[in-house]
Amino acid sequence: MNKENASIHDFDLDLICEYFSAIERQGPGSPEVTIKALSFIDNLTGESRIADIGCGTGGQTMVLAQHAPGYITGIDLFPVFIDLFNNNAGNLDLQDRVKGIVGSMDNLPFETGELDLIWSEGAIYNIGFRRGLTEWREYLKEGGYIAVSEVSWFTEERPAEISDFWLDAYSEIDIIPNKVLQMQKAGYVPIASFILPENCWIDHFYSPQVSAQEDFLEKYAGNQKAEELVANERHEAEIYHRYKDYYGYVFYIGKKI
Ligand code: SAH
Repeated sequence: MNKENASIHDFDLDLICEYFSAIERQGPGSPEVTIKALSFIDNLTGESRIADIGCGTGGQTMVLAQHAPGYITGIDLFPVFIDLFNNNAGNLDLQDRVKGIVGSMDNLPFETGELDLIWSEGAIYNIGFRRGLTEWREYLKEGGYIAVSEVSWFTEERPAEISDFWLDAYSEIDIIPNKVLQMQKAGYVPIASFILPENCWIDHFYSPQVSAQEDFLEKYAGNQKAEELVANERHEAEIYHRYKDYYGYVFYIGKKI
């Protein structure tokens, strides 16, 4: 649910949830990228406590669980996503280690220093990168890790259309070195940052939406809100294809100091 370009409140929430429930991921990413980000994290054991914040239906959480030891709590604002998340965990026989709960990233139910790892793919923009890094740090143990993906500029200069689009949608978008510096200033050693390949957007995010959009429009024929939602998602995909040299998602991995 890459909704930076239109406030989530502009659309009917139930419709949004239904639309994004039909696809495996709600933001750009891939199993390979989740595993690559995980390769930078070296402190996990069978007793580790991991949180996946803004987990959606859990596409990345299940990959994480299959490649990392420990207990994972997925948190998302929307009960529909959490129901699907817990079904997915059950289908993969991960229910003893992986639990989804409804909650908000600005009011997390963890104790100080409880977590070994905070994960968040394509979701920290909802609270803002700097605020998320700063506030979530409290829940990490010293030496614990944070791994988040966040939209970032690739170039120092860019065409006005894409600049305006993102400044309107998410004004915290910035170049990678500035994001890394923000991570440092929030109290982490920056361990790694890497750009998500284009297939994370095209094959794992936009392509699965094409047939989902057709089904959705058929079901909601004549429903203006549903049509606007699909038009918005299609516009976002077009913008990505036109301007993908200028922006993309970047994984940032840091260690609490
Ligand atoms: N991590 C998933 C979903 C990314 S989309 C993936 O990569 O596929 C962003 C997610 O953040 C959505 O599932 C949305 O419901 C959730 N979200 C939005 N605001 C939130 C909040 N305040 N607290 C928790 N989750 C939130």
